[in-house]
Amino acid sequence: MSGTSPVWHPFTQHGLGEPIPLVERAEGAALYTADGRRVIDAISSWWVTTHGHNHPRIVAAIAEQAQKLDQLIFAGWTHEPAETLARGLVEIMPDGLDYVFFSDSGSTSVEVALKMALGFWSNRGEPRHRILVMQHSYHGDTIGGMSVGERGVYNQAYSPLLFDVGTIPFPHAGQEQATYDALDAACASTDVAAFIVEPLLLGAGGMLMYSPAVLAEMRAICARHGVLFIADEVMTGWGRTGTLTACEQAGVVPDIMCLAKGLTGGSMPLAVTLANAPIFEAHMSQDRARMFFHSSSYTANPIACAAANANLAIWREEPVFERIASLAAREAEGFARIAGRHPVANLRQCGTVAAFDIEVTDAGYLSHLGPQLLASFREQDVLLRPLGNTIYVMPPYCISDADLETVFAAIDRALTKVIRT
Ligand SMILES: *Cc1c(COP(=O)(O)O)cnc(C)c1O
Repeated sequence: MSGTSPVWHPFTQHGLGEPIPLVERAEGAALYTADGRRVIDAISSWWVTTHGHNHPRIVAAIAEQAQKLDQLIFAGWTHEPAETLARGLVEIMPDGLDYVFFSDSGSTSVEVALKMALGFWSNRGEPRHRILVMQHSYHGDTIGGMSVGERGVYNQAYSPLLFDVGTIPFPHAGQEQATYDALDAACASTDVAAFIVEPLLLGAGGMLMYSPAVLAEMRAICARHGVLFIADEVMTGWGRTGTLTACEQAGVVPDIMCLAKGLTGGSMPLAVTLANAPIFEAHMSQDRARMFFHSSSYTANPIACAAANANLAIWREEPVFERIASLAAREAEGFARIAGRHPVANLRQCGTVAAFDIEVTDAGYLSHLGPQLLASFREQDVLLRPLGNTIYVMPPYCISDADLETVFAAIDRALTKVIRT
């Protein structure tokens, strides 16, 4: 299918010649391919689709807005979809995050957050540049996003360009004190501007989870030292962890919060970076040199904002939390069943994300494991993408019982095929 295509796909090794399915349409949790297959999207098309593909209200909002105003310069100009969305976000997001800066992807929302933090300190005449990060984090694939994320084979070639950061150990259960001590010691240094963290759930790092109490304690440590706290809720936001934001579960209000992926229900590229009043006010002045120097061409694109407004309406008017609770309960039951039949480790769940690890001792086996699993899932018409030896599900909230059971059965069958005991 991809033999003569000029398309260069992301995170794809074209040299392996693996099949690249052509998808024609989607609905709910299902993708329909050109060769007539119905594939269950069990990872929400890379963690973005919350209410299901092609939700009619989002589709209608996009169609309607496209006929009115397609795009507008956002420096010094504004439009109704952005104004409505900003007000709506301030209303439902944690109290105190009163300012909304638009961009187009999770990665850029992180870049914006880092620039806001540095601008805050610079404009206060106390230039601080050092960023603290958590081990195993992922914050995007731009240079700044990679700099604050875990270093590995996927960014090795670019490492000379990545800036230096301070890394805090991941708070493994029972070892939280080591994380607190490291963060406390690092924050004491007067050049630290901010700590950026994925709240409760580290996605690309392997679906690693820690408790709300740990999040609250890390936030408190930063507050004691006056270090800005940036919550990257790009993946955890919009109900993924069971609540609208993961921070809510810890009663945490960050200084800066990044949102993307589910912001438009997963339909259009759009991101926001929310900031509290001190961050905004540090940039407010009669002096143009203190403004926030960031923009991209499609900042607050009206069509994307209209999609996000439809998403907010769905959150307000549909039983989204009931769907999330139901999905989480079904996942807990299904994954417990799988874990009872196969030798898997670290069964874990955070809201609608359930995961376990296949225990691997030899690297040769690990290198075959991923492709074998992918091939098995592909044959069974289920879209799953293990992270190394970690299998996880993150479906749209609307997935039916039958489809979810098909996903569990596909995992069960794949494990039967690949696990060596
Ligand atoms: C996906 C992700 C990003 C990057 O978002 P993009 O829209 O892919 O640029 C950043 N942070 C986290 C936590 C993510 O999961």
